[in-house]
Amino acid sequence: MFESLKEQPADKILALMQLYREDPRDTKIDLGVGVYKDASGNTPIMRAIKAAEKMLWDAETTKSYTGLAGDPGFTEALSTLVLGDSVPRANIAAAATPGGTGAVRQGFDLVLQANPRARVWVSDPTWPNHLSILKHMGIAFTPYRYFDAETRSVDFTHMIADLTQAMPGDVVLLHGCCHNPTGANLTGAQWKAVIELLLEKEAVPMIDIAYQGFGDGLEQDAMGVRMVCEKMPEVIIAASCSKNFGIYRERTGLLMAVAKDASRTKLNQGTLNYLNRQNYSFPPDHGARLVTMVLNDPDLRADWAAELEEVRNSMLGLRQQLADELKRLTNSDRFNFLAQHRGMFSRLGATPEQVETLRRDHGIYMVGDSRMNIAGLNKTTIPILANAIVKSGI
Ligand code: PMP
Repeated sequence: MFESLKEQPADKILALMQLYREDPRDTKIDLGVGVYKDASGNTPIMRAIKAAEKMLWDAETTKSYTGLAGDPGFTEALSTLVLGDSVPRANIAAAATPGGTGAVRQGFDLVLQANPRARVWVSDPTWPNHLSILKHMGIAFTPYRYFDAETRSVDFTHMIADLTQAMPGDVVLLHGCCHNPTGANLTGAQWKAVIELLLEKEAVPMIDIAYQGFGDGLEQDAMGVRMVCEKMPEVIIAASCSKNFGIYRERTGLLMAVAKDASRTKLNQGTLNYLNRQNYSFPPDHGARLVTMVLNDPDLRADWAAELEEVRNSMLGLRQQLADELKRLTNSDRFNFLAQHRGMFSRLGATPEQVETLRRDHGIYMVGDSRMNIAGLNKTTIPILANAIVKSGI
């Protein structure tokens, strides 16, 4: 049987990590994988998470199963963090998932259950795993233009032109904030226009929010999701706790299905429970429990929010320093987009050859589409990167 297996395409980002590890140069800079790193290159455990972990060790009395949708305390706390009071609680069905990836995967499965012929519209570009999961599941998808390669900002005119072709029941996948890989995000007015179009087309928004608190702040980053939930009758939301709680390996995420009225919630909740049961039964609990403790304890929550602000501000500082350095070197404003982008990533707009030159000649590692992880930089490496960018003719 196994001889019929085909070689699967290697994950480009993981392959890049391997190349980086093998590079003997001690001046090398890793801007590849999407993990937050502090100025010393470490991915720390957040203070509040560590404190909650210690408390949990004392307080936890059983490791017996939770519910199929996970611990209700977790779904309540995280759905409130993401959705605020944009929709009545009774309209939300939610299930814990293994990470944001699990939420995306279960979200697509929910789409299949509801409409096996649905088409999913995806931003061009998007997180490559969106495409790979859709392909794996055999779900039809169509890209919509999103990024203006010239200005490195959202190509809103073409985005709207493409989404005008959406059909009733189609799903439109949007990034809640901190778009991966570009760093370019919709403004409030643009969210409003997208909502109006989707309402007119009777398309269903699915929002992937994996970086809440990494862009403009916890509340501001949820603005788009909340506007959509206030206005649209049905919304699917996949949330990840990997980045904003720094618990990557604990695999903590939440899938939410928001309905137009509470009468639908029972059916939606039953479907989410069913899908968890088929795919892995009970979702992982450790990370979810830590998140719940942090969100529900006022002291832990305040400390977590403060540390998240430090993380966010440090990335903003790095963005500004890099934009300033490039302005100085090029005597132009053409790299100002780096300071305007939000989140961990920016698409630099370099050709694959220039990306290769950066790696070969300067030991600077970024994804082939020129996505850089801003958190991979520090005050010392920024001038090195800026010089290399200019020398590579970008
Ligand atoms: N969505 C997007 C857009 C992401 O960038 C990521 C993380 N790379 C995820 C979802 C899922 O992250 P995780 O499964 O690690 O929670």
